[in-house]
Amino acid sequence: MSVLSTHTNKYSDDLTALPGVGPGTERILRQEGFSSYKDLADTDPIILHRKCNIGLANTVGIITTALELLEEPCQNCGEMMLKPIWGGYPGQLSDEKKSNNRIFCESCHWIGSI
Ligand SMILES: [Zn+2]
Repeated sequence: MSVLSTHTNKYSDDLTALPGVGPGTERILRQEGFSSYKDLADTDPIILHRKCNIGLANTVGIITTALELLEEPCQNCGEMMLKPIWGGYPGQLSDEKKSNNRIFCESCHWIGSI
């Protein structure tokens, strides 16, 4: 993985640092409005799969890695423990909360989006 200063410009990250993303896939992602790790971290694998025609297993890896590379702390407790809700929230969530929020904190169980 490259150590580019990707965080100086949040709106254009090096998407080829993500698993399975080459120049062709990167172009498709950008065309569909995913130009930063933040854009990808805050989406759902199925949406990414449908919009960009990327295999579902790959979209899971892309989003999970984007969230890790984003290095965003929890807005509630400040821990770097954000995980995607679709990856498995440890409890019950209403469908409304599931559809409006994609991220939760593994430390304090805050849910929301970034
Ligand atoms: Zn937290």
